[in-house]
Amino acid sequence: MTARDVLQTRLETIRQRMREACRRCDRSVDDVRLIAVTKYAALEHVRELVELGQLDLGESRPQQLSQRAAELPQTVRWHLIGHLQRNKVELVVPKAALIHSLDSLRLAERISSVAVARGLVMPALLEVNVSGEESKDGFQPDALRAVADDLFRLPGLKIQGLMTMAPQSDHPEDARPVFRSTRLLLDELRGLAGSAHQLSELSMGMSGDFEIAIEEGATFIRIGSSLFDGV
Ligand SMILES: *Cc1c(COP(=O)(O)O)cnc(C)c1O
Repeated sequence: MTARDVLQTRLETIRQRMREACRRCDRSVDDVRLIAVTKYAALEHVRELVELGQLDLGESRPQQLSQRAAELPQTVRWHLIGHLQRNKVELVVPKAALIHSLDSLRLAERISSVAVARGLVMPALLEVNVSGEESKDGFQPDALRAVADDLFRLPGLKIQGLMTMAPQSDHPEDARPVFRSTRLLLDELRGLAGSAHQLSELSMGMSGDFEIAIEEGATFIRIGSSLFDGV
């Protein structure tokens, strides 16, 4: 099998598992979007995936996102899923369709001012750390509640929902409480946000736990290793 055949088969397998998860919880599969995480993939494989029709791609490093956006077709929707430093905001804002890793008020203020200067509105998700792991980026729920008003007031920034990562585990079920708390936090924030922000997206679920995430309301899943490992 060529690399392209492998990628096609894996894409189909993931899409099939997405459909089954949606059926189990009575959701429409159209409400869940697959983001192929390309951070460890060779550019030629990413290109093949795009040719296979996979147009939502995720990168964790701003530099690589920006480079690849220049090398691949304009039809690709780039998702920044990794930590963003304020000095990289200029690089990302013109290229990304959605920033999933908005994790501080200071970063939000920077994105806002860059977007306003360029006459853009930047869609973003607030990254939350509901499991309380110290190693993780993201707002603690209480810290987010404290700055929510300030975040939602910033011009040039359209906050569309939340992103989270479950702790590493061999048991996908361990992720369920984290995903569920994230969904409840989104419901709570919706009351605070006002009409300028839709707050309908939940970016959660990776190769090891995406079916659980779908059952708990994910609208974006971010899949890397089960697509690209060993290709
Ligand atoms: C790498 C990465 C993923 C993909 O994880 P896999 O387990 O390889 O599917 C998803 N989200 C984020 C934030 C990542 O850094």
